[in-house]
Amino acid sequence: MADIESFHFEGNEIAPGTGKEVSLELGDGPAGNSRSIPVYIIHGTRPGPVLALTAGIHGDELNGVSVAHHLIHGDDHIAGTDDDRISREELAGTIICVPVVNIEGMLLEQRGAPDNRDINRLFPGKKQGNQSQRIAYVLFNSVVKRSDYLIDLHSAPHSRTNLPHVRANFDQKDCMELARAFGTQIILHSTGPRGSLRRTATKQGTPTILLEAGTAHRFEMDAVHAGIEGVLNVMGHLGMIERENKLPAVRLLVRRSKWARAEAGGLLYSRVNVGDHVKKGQEIALVTDPLGEQTHSIESPRTGVIVGLALNPLVRAGDPIANIVLCSSGKWKRAQNEFNADEPEEESVDDEESLDDA
Ligand SMILES: [Zn+2]
Repeated sequence: MADIESFHFEGNEIAPGTGKEVSLELGDGPAGNSRSIPVYIIHGTRPGPVLALTAGIHGDELNGVSVAHHLIHGDDHIAGTDDDRISREELAGTIICVPVVNIEGMLLEQRGAPDNRDINRLFPGKKQGNQSQRIAYVLFNSVVKRSDYLIDLHSAPHSRTNLPHVRANFDQKDCMELARAFGTQIILHSTGPRGSLRRTATKQGTPTILLEAGTAHRFEMDAVHAGIEGVLNVMGHLGMIERENKLPAVRLLVRRSKWARAEAGGLLYSRVNVGDHVKKGQEIALVTDPLGEQTHSIESPRTGVIVGLALNPLVRAGDPIANIVLCSSGKWKRAQNEFNADEPEEESVDDEESLDDA
């Protein structure tokens, strides 16, 4: 039996132990079509926090969309079956899940909204603003302000890929607690760009972390599973579900990391993947002329782990090739292969140059 009341959201009532699809109206589109953000709410049967999950603010970043799908419907994509990740009857608290914030951007297969603006630079939005500011406004007022915590799911742009990792403001205790609970081997420090959902929501009292996993325009199941497990770890940590968390034995808290760059243009052949450990001086990529003859070799300027990697073979001098986080090979082996429920051993990494961007 439920011992809590229904959850009320934008004129909808969600009874304890149920899930419901609702929409946030955005007004008509050019063809008189209605425009809205689909939201799925799962309301538990016991008291607990409200956790929001947002994905697809950048319309071409799809791994997070799939994370949301799996959390709502389980691996078979049918809710109410045995493989559901979240039992509605046993959940404590409420999940507000927004699988695709920028739905028109997704249809256009692009990062921004139809006006080409980046919604993730416009929070908290404007009620009477441009179309992107209005999307930000609706999301912020309907979802963020109702939530105690928020996880925003992203991937790298199509020209790059990221090893799944969480980004958080190390100077915000609540954010760091969520980031540690999420359980990736690597947590990168950043406050988030001005106007980003993460920075604005955190400032307004909803501690927010961000997952970066994989690349754009794809469902990559490794990245998706890292996202699913991380969100469930956070839910376990918040007492929303019963769960024995699996945390890596070692975790790197990265204040600053550094990109290895191409010293000459050409066509790029990577010799490494994200998650690989490389030694200083090791060849990580080579560059060829248009006929495929090698013209340059790119060596790793440091010993560490590849966290971000260029996917676009067309490079010019100065283009970023690989984001490498300082780490010894022994530490990285343990971080990848040893898991337990205890708090991991932490190592702080502070490289001389700041992060490229977010
Ligand atoms: Zn993004």
